[in-house]
Amino acid sequence: MDRRKFIAGMGLTAIAATSPVSINAVERVTRRRYNRRRAVPRVNQVAKTGKLKLSFFPYELKLRHAFNLARYSRTTTPDVQVTLEYDGIKGYGEASMPPYLGESVESVTTFLNKLDLEQFKDPFCIEDILDYVDHVDENNRAAKASIDIALHDLLGKIMGQPWYKIWGYNPEKTPVTSFTIGIDTPEVVRQKVEEARPYKLIKVKMGLDRDQETIDIIREMMPDVPICVDCNQGWNNKEHALEMCHWLNERNCLFVEQPFDKTWIDETAWLRERSPLPIIADEAFQRLPDIVRFKGVYDGINIKLMKSTGLYEAHKMVTLARALNMRVMIGCMTETSCAVTAAANLSPVVDFADLDGNLLIANDRFTGMTVENGKITLHDRPGLGIELLK
Ligand SMILES: [Mg+2]
Repeated sequence: MDRRKFIAGMGLTAIAATSPVSINAVERVTRRRYNRRRAVPRVNQVAKTGKLKLSFFPYELKLRHAFNLARYSRTTTPDVQVTLEYDGIKGYGEASMPPYLGESVESVTTFLNKLDLEQFKDPFCIEDILDYVDHVDENNRAAKASIDIALHDLLGKIMGQPWYKIWGYNPEKTPVTSFTIGIDTPEVVRQKVEEARPYKLIKVKMGLDRDQETIDIIREMMPDVPICVDCNQGWNNKEHALEMCHWLNERNCLFVEQPFDKTWIDETAWLRERSPLPIIADEAFQRLPDIVRFKGVYDGINIKLMKSTGLYEAHKMVTLARALNMRVMIGCMTETSCAVTAAANLSPVVDFADLDGNLLIANDRFTGMTVENGKITLHDRPGLGIELLK
């Protein structure tokens, strides 16, 4: 068949009538026809008429139990709740500010008041919007995360899909989530171990002088459930840390998180080389470029949306860490189900999850991901997968 007959056979008579015909012209016409036939309009053509409207208010999170870590204790967490509205659709986000992050209700509201999001006519220009937000001021990671989370919720709702689906993740592959037991008296530890019974991984806070006693209580009450430990920078002697790693390894411990002060790079690399357990970075690790710096110092990273400035960068972190053969953990602060569920959308592709922040507060504003039989369970709602409680 010659080229003219072939093109005519394809039904492209308008092109066949003119000669010579370039293959590019055929492709252009075929693509135009294909686009005309598509029943669903292209997403980025749907929403270009409205304005992004930002609103927010402070919301203090009340903790069910006092939260005792190696370096401080608290009963509330400051938080700012954020809404982004576009063409009548609302996306929700939040900034949670545990003290060690250095942000406050005042710093977050000051930052949010500086933003001019109405300049963006197309909310799908996520790269432009978040790049602008990131450059309005340095730091302010939780404040930036609140916008990123609300934007993801909004866009997922416009597209009618949850983010784990948009990213192509299999919701069956979500991990179990750990349940945290803080540093406390033996009586309170026993009470918390009872509460932890439905969970398949127990995270134990360490870094004070009761470390071994706490583990002994847990192993006596729950001999088979794996544990992991989080020192929150509390260990200050590398030989003692190495002994503890061996001791924990014999007690079904999976990893040790942030053993030393975040500035102890050489000591952490020394421990990592000798420890039978993986060493995971938390306080030392904030943004995407840190990952490359920590290759060889830590075995893995704990990604939290309040550090990563939200889902957009967290998604890139997962990809980069996996490419560098590092372990990935997804964690959270004390947060409502809004930010916790946002993070849970990434959980099908991580090694460990520590997403119990919403279970630690008494005044959640949302329902979202659930924990069933210890496993993170994602639902089919669009956006982050959350609903505002009445
Ligand atoms: Mg930690």
